[in-house]
Amino acid sequence: MRVFPFARCPPQVRGDCLRCPMRGRAVVYGPFRSRRRGLSIGVNLFIGAKVCSFDCVYCFRGATAVKRRRPYDPGLPTIEMLEEGLRRALGEVGDVEAVDFSGSGEPTLHSRLGEFIRAARRVVGEYAPGASLGIFTNSSTLGLRRVVEALKELDQVEAKLDTLDERKFQVINRPVEGIRVGDILEALKSFRREYGGTLAVQVMLVSYGDCLNYTLEDAERMAEALTAVDPDEVHLYTAYRAPRLPSVARAPPEEIVEFARVLRSSGLRVEVYPE
Ligand code: SF4
Repeated sequence: MRVFPFARCPPQVRGDCLRCPMRGRAVVYGPFRSRRRGLSIGVNLFIGAKVCSFDCVYCFRGATAVKRRRPYDPGLPTIEMLEEGLRRALGEVGDVEAVDFSGSGEPTLHSRLGEFIRAARRVVGEYAPGASLGIFTNSSTLGLRRVVEALKELDQVEAKLDTLDERKFQVINRPVEGIRVGDILEALKSFRREYGGTLAVQVMLVSYGDCLNYTLEDAERMAEALTAVDPDEVHLYTAYRAPRLPSVARAPPEEIVEFARVLRSSGLRVEVYPE
């Protein structure tokens, strides 16, 4: 398979990665405008096949091809490919505000994550010293020492937590067997105590069949849990990009507003990202 150190996101794709002709073969991709992060460049550590410990019903990157919770190194990309891709991206695209590890699946599952982050830090420091270096994670590996140590090098960590209800977690996020949302919450609390950068918790509000994660009880449980985590920000979303399963429905706007109100009344700083 051909691997591209850097590929520009085709404008006609407009953020819909399933329609992108590159389909996960670029190590560094962009630029694209993120509502959270500004003008951004993405980094993908899993080339050609989505690797994740979840298989979320709303994932806009399609079904998980390699579902696992243990560290994994598929061989490509190499550190050199990442460095080349970042040099090209940051050299060609001016005024980049953020470089984020995201891509096809869960980047913290890569067993060489720390090396990739240190390499990215070197290149970003040279070519875009003002840019924020971050990651999007599903939080399932935050209990692992090697992951915590690697993420401490980053300016921003955006960590997913969609529900505190174990049944809803299993239905919406479809984790690898043995992953429990209660353990994820404890890992998030512990990570917050060690991590000095900006921690944002991302909550995706959706319904799927008879399962929805935005009732008043959901909001109150989330408020209590996140107060204990103490993130810098909470980001509320719904499935504004095409979900992997068409029967996934967005949370109604008024429900998102009410969910945000409950969180804010607990003192949390909440941003809502509507379409
Ligand atoms: S954790 Fe992220 S990449 Fe993995 S299935 Fe869920 S939305 Fe997709």
